[in-house]
Amino acid sequence: ADKTYLYFLFKFLVIGNAGTGKSCLLHQFIEKKFKDDSNHTIGVEFGSKIINVGGKYVKLQIWDTAGQERFRSVTRSYYRGAAGALLVYDITSRETYNALTNWLTDARMLASQNIVIILCGNKKDLDADREVTFLEASRFAQENELMFLETSALTGENVEEAFVQCARKILNKIESGELDPERMGSGIQYGDAALRQLRSPRRAQAPNAQECGC
Ligand code: GDP
Ligand code: MG
Repeated sequence: ADKTYLYFLFKFLVIGNAGTGKSCLLHQFIEKKFKDDSNHTIGVEFGSKIINVGGKYVKLQIWDTAGQERFRSVTRSYYRGAAGALLVYDITSRETYNALTNWLTDARMLASQNIVIILCGNKKDLDADREVTFLEASRFAQENELMFLETSALTGENVEEAFVQCARKILNKIESGELDPERMGSGIQYGDAALRQLRSPRRAQAPNAQECGC
């Protein structure tokens, strides 16, 4: 999409324990293929992609912890001003599931109270080795007001959906007034299309202006 059609730009994070598949999820979302271990030297820290959410183009600017989580050195500046996050655990590792509460506390404290988080139970393809049930995780998600999906960065299942659902929720919150894009550190920037609408207040106030022929 041309940038003149962009409504918003959202800053996204991918958080969770090392080894849960965060980098692979980002790679699958951007490149539409599984990142095999041979090219992990590349260590992508950042990716962006334009998606269409309910007819509006939104650019996601996604930050990966790029291995920092191994050393518990994910910094405040990483979290600052994020609008959305994928919180990832590995369905074959209870340890990564048990760590979710800590990640959640950090995200809500260091990013923003309003950050929209989707919980991703990754490695859905490894169902035979599962240590965390879908039901258990969906209860956790409900209790903590998170959206929830099981994903596979290997097969691609639910990967695009995770990013899109998170973006849709943010967009809904902007449209309902629950989220203010102009608040400092909201993680949201206006795209050209939104700016055009803001600069022509007549049209913004009367969305049916074209129909009434005035
Ligand atoms: P990160 O440390 O959270 O960034 O995790 P990586 O993306 O580096 O992945 C850790 C390991 O899990 C790698 O060996 C990946 O090949 C593997 N992996 C990641 N996602 C999946 C998945 O959905 N299914 C399977 N079977 N393996 C995965
Ligand atoms: Mg990684």
